[in-house]
Amino acid sequence: MAKEQQHALAVPLPGQGHINPMMRLCRILAKKGVTVTFVNIDPIHKRMKELRQQQQEEEEQPIYASQEELVGEIRRARVPMDGLDLGQIVSMEAFFEALKKGLGPHLHQLVLRLNREGSRVTCLLSDMLLTATTQFVADAFNIPRIALYSSSQSTLLFHHHLMTDPVVSTEHAMEVARGQPRPDVVFAEGLAGLPPLIHARDLPHFRHHGDDNLYMFRFMEREMLLCYQTAHCVVVNSFDALERPAFDALSSRVNPPLYGVGPLVDSLEEKSTTSFWKEDEACILWLDQQAPLSVLYISFGSVTCLSYPQFEEIVHGLLSSQHCFLWVVRPGLLPSPPNGEKRSLDLFSASHGRGRIVDWAPQLRVLAHPSIGGFLTHCGWNSTIEAIHHGVPMLCWPYFSDQYFNAKFVEEEWRIGLRFNMTNECKMIERFEIERVIKVIMEGHEGKVLRQNAQKFKEASNNAILPEGSSCKNIQALLDSLHI
Ligand code: UDP
Repeated sequence: MAKEQQHALAVPLPGQGHINPMMRLCRILAKKGVTVTFVNIDPIHKRMKELRQQQQEEEEQPIYASQEELVGEIRRARVPMDGLDLGQIVSMEAFFEALKKGLGPHLHQLVLRLNREGSRVTCLLSDMLLTATTQFVADAFNIPRIALYSSSQSTLLFHHHLMTDPVVSTEHAMEVARGQPRPDVVFAEGLAGLPPLIHARDLPHFRHHGDDNLYMFRFMEREMLLCYQTAHCVVVNSFDALERPAFDALSSRVNPPLYGVGPLVDSLEEKSTTSFWKEDEACILWLDQQAPLSVLYISFGSVTCLSYPQFEEIVHGLLSSQHCFLWVVRPGLLPSPPNGEKRSLDLFSASHGRGRIVDWAPQLRVLAHPSIGGFLTHCGWNSTIEAIHHGVPMLCWPYFSDQYFNAKFVEEEWRIGLRFNMTNECKMIERFEIERVIKVIMEGHEGKVLRQNAQKFKEASNNAILPEGSSCKNIQALLDSLHI
């Protein structure tokens, strides 16, 4: 009997760091013959569409196995989002509650419509943090749901320990993270599958978002537990050679299979069709003119904000280091000031052409460029695994959520980067420290060792996505499981 055409309804969380890996996973699935309907909520759908039109890009490239044979395709769909204004999000709680109320019913309607039109949806692929919002849709149509977790496997395991391990608890983690004790205080020891010591400074937190700390811990706990009870499987943007102990430890504790399918990266020929801002292509031409390993790439991702005093410390540290830099100063990175932005950016005139500032960069192509010698990053998981994939050592500037945990692994476990020392009480990183760490990475012996380590992980990462690699095999195992 012929196998039924697989048709996945893909539903990412409406954030840049969630939509990117979801689309990259969908492209892989489409190359394997799956038809994908990629769903965004209205405001995001509109924003991306306008951007693609401005850049005169095609909606979505058809995906061919050879010249003739179309293997799978990605279609876009949008759902209305009642009661959510992305420009006016007052809290994480309001955001997730609005999603839960507004999104689920529209998804249900969309599946009904697609089925009616003869394009039967055979599985749901949605963000792990949308379990309560989307699982009931899968249940209603009796189709399997694949959950995508878009942070590291170790972070997923750590949350499981917080929920289930008697020696640590979510309350304890929250209190420690909120109380900001000495960063070197040990929070937990000997958690299976994780490094021997977890310190206070490694803990995820959401304290930049007002009172959301408590809500977010609780919310993630609920979503993850429900996911383990209901999902067909969980796919993680990571790979076995990077996080083997964490995959093993969590696999023995939860029901659904866990598949490491990362690194989820597009090939360099594929254009991103999911960026929220226009990518500055000209910066690649500028990089072409720079010497190998001479440029520090700086990006804080799509959510992080900097205060003006902190921004100016970075500017001064950067200029004193004398190194070339490419810096993404995304709209919204700094608070809207009367004159501050201008004043701070004026400082760059002192850099004598050594620096370039862009609103948004084609990050994968930047990281792959031979002139890039280091990456000052907020350690969002996508940025971290993208840097690993390209063998670029990191200077870690975690800001919130799992970024502290990621920075720990970069510095202590994989030894492919460094964290900054915070020397003062007001939690600012000062210019001298910034200059020091930039110099270590870009010119010192230690930097060379970090780069060599990064090269080893680059090789492992590239191997994982070869046809015989662990992630490729996991994708196949996942697809085979859908045909049962
Ligand atoms: N990114 C990009 N251009 C930029 C900065 C970031 O394309 O100038 C992409 C980056 O490659 C990554 C995503 O935006 O895929 C950011 O995700 P991450 O998890 O690193 O951070 P978040 O934005 O979620 O904090």
